[in-house]
Amino acid sequence: MPRWFGRTRSGAPPSPPPSRAELRVGIPRVLNLWSTHQFWVGFFGALGVDGRRLVFSSDTSEEQGRQFGKGRGTVDCCYPVKCIAGHYGELVFGQREKLDVLFSPMIYNLPSFLSGHVARTLTCPRVMAAPENVKAGFMKERDVFAEQGIRYAAPFVSLDEPALVPKQLWEGLREAIPGLTATETAGAVAAGYRALAEFGARLRGKSREVLEWCARENRACLMVLARPYHMDPGIGHEIEVDLQAYGYPVLWAQYFPVDSDLMQWAFGADLRAGHIKSPFDIRDVWPSSYSSNTNEILWGAKVAARIPWIACVVRLASYECGMDQPTYTPVQQIVERSGTLFFSFQDLDSTKPAGSVKIRVETITHYLARYAGEIIEKKMAAMDPGCPLR
Ligand code: SF4
Repeated sequence: MPRWFGRTRSGAPPSPPPSRAELRVGIPRVLNLWSTHQFWVGFFGALGVDGRRLVFSSDTSEEQGRQFGKGRGTVDCCYPVKCIAGHYGELVFGQREKLDVLFSPMIYNLPSFLSGHVARTLTCPRVMAAPENVKAGFMKERDVFAEQGIRYAAPFVSLDEPALVPKQLWEGLREAIPGLTATETAGAVAAGYRALAEFGARLRGKSREVLEWCARENRACLMVLARPYHMDPGIGHEIEVDLQAYGYPVLWAQYFPVDSDLMQWAFGADLRAGHIKSPFDIRDVWPSSYSSNTNEILWGAKVAARIPWIACVVRLASYECGMDQPTYTPVQQIVERSGTLFFSFQDLDSTKPAGSVKIRVETITHYLARYAGEIIEKKMAAMDPGCPLR
């Protein structure tokens, strides 16, 4: 009835909603967007948003914070959260063509290869609440989003519970995306998960190639243990890039190959001894396995301790990180007890401590040049025969 009256009053059909392909959607390149970006690219693509109009903010930088985030801070927090004000500001004020939507999901839990083997895969509470807390800095005097004609969407989303996600995203986005239906949201969510899985498989395949090369050539590589957003040059300060320049391939624990032949070889002894129920079980070292990124760091330490060619682990953590603090000792002990070299860069903040990084990188490469051969040999001797990497 209301639609019938609507038509007769105007005498013409209602004007069509703006085309999805015309929408410009901005996404801050922060926190767990570093590990879930392909989900969002697949999701918005399936909804008809043109990939070229999906705008990710730049890498974090002090300049970005100064230019776009200044005066918009809300709570005193770790740098990976604090810097988000600069990303929001860049998306709101720093675009040649105005955005229609600023999309900043409140991610509650994360898809992980450890799902089902750990207690939960929750995000850090600061991560989950960050969109609300950063938004406050853009609304404390007046509503900057409304002023700029930008719809702000921060849906709460449980990415590790796929059955909940279509409803969460439909409810969180229907005001921001014209004509969005529940059915098409469900289809787009499925496309998002497919894109994320394909991306993960591709990177794991690359990591396997690196490991096979190391095994064939008997060459050392490094593993980085850090949160996904330490891949951001403004957060992790590209320490791993400096190390790679010395000719050591770098693997990130999050994209380590999890093929069953390799997992059985790496964890066979622990499985036979009954210490763990599966290669992805970390209860032997981390019983309170609730935090997704923490779980992956602990698992990464275990795998690095077992794989002979990972001769060195580099740990990165941010200043004021309450989640990483309790893991420092266990991670270091797991790695060092296997004879693997361990170096950590804790308390990373906005500025790159360039001088000390340079000295530490030289120290690390000195030790690697001197001891990598011995480390590989000793770790190889402790492993089962039949390495699938050779
Ligand atoms: S895990 Fe640590 S660095 Fe990351 S948001 Fe939480 S407190 Fe900050």
